[in-house]
Amino acid sequence: MKIAVLPGDGIGPEIVTQALRVLAVLQSDGLKVELEEAPLGGAAYDQFGAPYPDFTQKVCRAADAVLLGAVGGPQYDNLDRPLRPERGLLGIRKDLGLFANLRPAVLFPELANASTLKPEVVSGLDIMIVRELTGDIYFGEPRGMRTNKDGVREALNTMIYTEPEVRRIAHVAFGIARKRSQKLCSVDKANVLETTEFWKEIVIDVAKDYPDVQLTHMYVDNAAMQLVRNPKQFDVIVTGNIFGDILSDEASMLTGSIGMLASASLNETKKGLYEPAHGSAPDIAGKNLANPLATILSLAMMLRYTFEDEAAAGRIEAAVKKVLAAGFRTADIFEPGMTKVSCSDMGSQVVAAM
Ligand code: NAD
Repeated sequence: MKIAVLPGDGIGPEIVTQALRVLAVLQSDGLKVELEEAPLGGAAYDQFGAPYPDFTQKVCRAADAVLLGAVGGPQYDNLDRPLRPERGLLGIRKDLGLFANLRPAVLFPELANASTLKPEVVSGLDIMIVRELTGDIYFGEPRGMRTNKDGVREALNTMIYTEPEVRRIAHVAFGIARKRSQKLCSVDKANVLETTEFWKEIVIDVAKDYPDVQLTHMYVDNAAMQLVRNPKQFDVIVTGNIFGDILSDEASMLTGSIGMLASASLNETKKGLYEPAHGSAPDIAGKNLANPLATILSLAMMLRYTFEDEAAAGRIEAAVKKVLAAGFRTADIFEPGMTKVSCSDMGSQVVAAM
């Protein structure tokens, strides 16, 4: 197993360091992994003049999985667009063919008060949103702004999916649903958009390979509403790029704590990029204040989805649960009565709980 480690910018190096301490526990218990570090984003621009330089590309291509902190920072905001840190992210996603974005929205019961919704609505929430990441209206051609033949300015984007694109994401989602509660909800707008009517038709066809998974369908407007009304009715949701973009942000905010949310982006060979859902938090960078749990939970996802080591993934998740149950909180999830800890102390607590 080879892991490319990309600490990135801002709080990235601090939170990745804690995840590597957790990984070291597994290594000392026999897990065989090789690590290679490379810069991405602003750090890569500083070192190599590009956000996803050849060196980093080589390291990532050779790895089985990539662990990323976060990229971006105000000092890079005035660079030309192709040099900005966020372009490094787009570059790596494209280069590695990462088409399946997995965004869990998990609310540990101990953190139920962090949500803006009533604790009884969200406590114990555990949703997995599977979002297609490389197609849909974000990439469809033609696109652009123009003046039409009547001299009127107009703009257009094209919502398009090919059958293989829908099939491969459907297989990923059914595979995940099979490992969880065997429930999959496909979100579309099939009543209005042919693209998503086509999506629905193909998902129904793929379902024949997964008779053990119960497939349901929901229109995206209803799904947005149901996520707030009764989110615990969902287990795995699969949807296209634009609906997934919006719904995964909505679902993650049900939990109220951005520092807790992991994510994974996978390609066809299960190679994956694993990163917290949050950004580089420049406001708290270098202060040892960041919550490292999203990154630690991203490491657990790596073990589950790329290395298929369910025991190791479960061990990390159980350790995080134990630390929260014992009352340890970084500043972002702190409540009176709990014990406030720094980023590195939180890492130490998880290591101890392991
Ligand atoms: P952000 O997620 O970095 O921060 C939003 C707020 O949440 C801030 O107050 C921050 O302090 C807090 N926060 C985020 N992660 C935290 C953690 N682990 N522990 C405690 N608090 C945490 O979003 P932003 O401020 O909009 O963006 C900052 C930079 O990050 C920008 O340059 C942006 O482009 C970049 N960004 C990168 C990614 C990525 O690398 N995948 C994602 C989003 C934003």
